[in-house]
Amino acid sequence: MNKEKAFLGLGSNMGNKEGNIKKALEMLKDESGIDIERVAPFYRAAPVGYTEQDWFLNTVAQIQTTLKPANLLAQILGIEDFLGRKRQIRWGPRVVDLDILIYGTHVIREQGLEVPHPRMLERAFVMVPLADLAPDLLLPGGKTAEEIAEELKGLQEIKRN
Ligand code: ADP
Ligand code: MG
Repeated sequence: MNKEKAFLGLGSNMGNKEGNIKKALEMLKDESGIDIERVAPFYRAAPVGYTEQDWFLNTVAQIQTTLKPANLLAQILGIEDFLGRKRQIRWGPRVVDLDILIYGTHVIREQGLEVPHPRMLERAFVMVPLADLAPDLLLPGGKTAEEIAEELKGLQEIKRN
C-alpha cells in the first residue's frame, strides 16, 4: 500500500501535559496504518491567540502512514476526543491538540482539512520542533523549516522542556 511521510503537531495545556502527549503518541502508535518514526523534543510555549490560559507543552512527530488524509484526520480527532478535549473556546485550553501539519507533498484546501496546516508558519511551537526533525523541509513560501523556526524564535517565547 502507498505510504506517505507526514508530520503531526501535538500540544497540551491542561492536567499532566507530558502524560497527555505521551498517551496521544501511544494511541497513534496503536493505530494500524500509522508508524511513528521520530518525535522531536518537548517544548514549553506561551499561549497564542487566547492568552488567558496556561502555557503549552508542544512537540512534532514524524510518521509514515497508509491512511488517506481524511482518515488520518478522523483518527487524530478521535484521539483528541478520547483523551477528553473540550471544544468550548477556540484556541482555548485543551487536554490535547493534534494537527496534521504536512502530508507528503499534498496540498489540501477543504473545509475541515487544510494541509499544510494554514497557521503553522506563524507558530514557533510548531516550527521549532519541526525544524529539529526536518530542518531542510521546504515549506509554502519557499523557506526551509529551519529558516522559519529561527525567525520565530526571536519573536515568541519557547523553551526546551
Ligand atoms: P488549531 O489546531 O488551529 O488550534 P482546532 O484544533 O481548534 O484549531 O481546530 C480543529 C479543527 O480544525 C478540526 O475539527 C479540523 O476539522 C480542522 N482542521 C483543518 N485542517 C486541519 C489539519 N491540518 N489538522 C487538524 N485539524 C484540521
Ligand atoms: Mg487542532
